[in-house]
Amino acid sequence: MTGRPARVVVVGGGFAGFNALRYLQRRLPPGSAELVLVTPDDYLLYSPLLPEVATGVVEARHIAVSLRRRLRRVRLVLGRVTGVDPAARTVSVRRGQVTQELAWDHLVLTPGSITRQFEIPGVPEHARGLKTLVEAVYLRDHLLEQLDLADAQPDTEEGRAARAEMLTVVAVGAGYTGTEFVAQAQRWLTRIERRWDRTRASDVRWVLVDVAPAVLPELGPQLGDHALGVLRARGVDVRLETSVASADDAAVVLTDGTTIGTRTLLWGAGVAASPLVAGLGLPTRRGRLVTRTDLSVPDVEGLWAAGDAAAVPDLAADPDDDGVRPDTQPTAQHAQRQGTAVGRNIAAALGHGTARPYRHRDLGLVADLGGLDAVARPLGIRLTGPVAKLVTRGYHLLVLPATANRVRVGADWLFQSILPPEETQLSVVREEDARLAAAQATAIYGPSSVPAG
Ligand SMILES: Cc1cc2nc3c(=O)[nH]c(=O)nc-3n(C[C@H](O)[C@H](O)[C@H](O)COP(=O)(O)OP(=O)(O)OC[C@H]3O[C@@H](n4cnc5c(N)ncnc54)[C@H](O)[C@@H]3O)c2cc1C
Repeated sequence: MTGRPARVVVVGGGFAGFNALRYLQRRLPPGSAELVLVTPDDYLLYSPLLPEVATGVVEARHIAVSLRRRLRRVRLVLGRVTGVDPAARTVSVRRGQVTQELAWDHLVLTPGSITRQFEIPGVPEHARGLKTLVEAVYLRDHLLEQLDLADAQPDTEEGRAARAEMLTVVAVGAGYTGTEFVAQAQRWLTRIERRWDRTRASDVRWVLVDVAPAVLPELGPQLGDHALGVLRARGVDVRLETSVASADDAAVVLTDGTTIGTRTLLWGAGVAASPLVAGLGLPTRRGRLVTRTDLSVPDVEGLWAAGDAAAVPDLAADPDDDGVRPDTQPTAQHAQRQGTAVGRNIAAALGHGTARPYRHRDLGLVADLGGLDAVARPLGIRLTGPVAKLVTRGYHLLVLPATANRVRVGADWLFQSILPPEETQLSVVREEDARLAAAQATAIYGPSSVPAG
């Protein structure tokens, strides 16, 4: 190493990358290291509130936390890493059409995940995800547009058939993305239904499909059953142990043989690690980059990984019969804490503090079902209804990593209860930009890079 300060490069400004840098900028004495963040956007996206953006409750910008303001000691490079050379200790950064090499002494890979796709005909073209602001804003406009179009259909056989397709929403994946979107969107439409002449929220058919036998399995069977009960009581057609066989622009064929006419297919069937990981030539588990318990990547000195993209042994979970522990779940909570842990361990490698393995027992998840309904499991305590709703909102306000964003989101919730609901269509996202590959920028890693199921 030369006499210059060590350069720590972090790839991805989400929960893990942000918290790694936040720790390092606080812990390291000024001038002792150069901190660089490579990420495509100048904000951390608070993704747990994306369903609220897609239903107009929370303004899109309010869940975007300014990286420049929160990471003042960090040099921000707006671009995407397309490759890593562990021998030369460089990363390739694509900014627009230009690719540049950037050297590192420590490299932290936290590029997160993308919507998991399976090789199902029609899904890449016709399904929409909910992992980015572009997708959330598009979904909201798309729903409004479908109801506007349905309202204007003539009362002919053809018009009635088209209307039925426009008024049907199919969501695949009964985890937090699919479940929260369906539950919240349904409540939202009941609040704005007077916008239409002859269409009411109750005319919309909601179908929630999952291969698993339960809704919200992350929250355990009791809360999952409660959420299922809430959805079914509201008329949502929940089809478990069922998947999608194919899709086109006007219908979805399910594996149980049913064909459902629809022009809205939300794909929330889990996540896969960023395609960046697959191209590294390093060991992976279920597509995630294998790390040691201290979040370092074996065999490459100075390489670290955390968050959704990393396979981190869960020291708080019991080992299986072969003595193998599962990996930590891809949640914001783990990503956030792994970010801080990797920051601490890099600081220790630079001579400041002591390294520790990552160990954290998940404090539980929350899911907002719209209106006064929610399910939450803080510290193992099962909550439902208005109490769970309060806990859910409190949790988000606590975890949002900037006071300005907390105040804005809190104000959105307050105004939502005292002002007429937002119902305008912004039409700022083109349909082609909302496709899974475009919205989640998977094409930059090459044609075969999107991991299938
Ligand atoms: C709709 C929705 C609801 C959710 N609800 C919850 C919840 O209630 N509770 C919970 O715990 N978790 C929830 N999650 C999951 C949670 O958001 C993720 O687990 C978390 O964001 C993972 O953090 P991360 O830092 O690994 O990745 P991310 O937060 O996704 O950050 C990855 C960052 O890397 C950037 N990036 C990607 N590729 C590159 C590249 N090649 N070069 C440079 N930068 C790159 C991305 O732009 C992004 O900034 C939800 C997710 C979604 C989509």
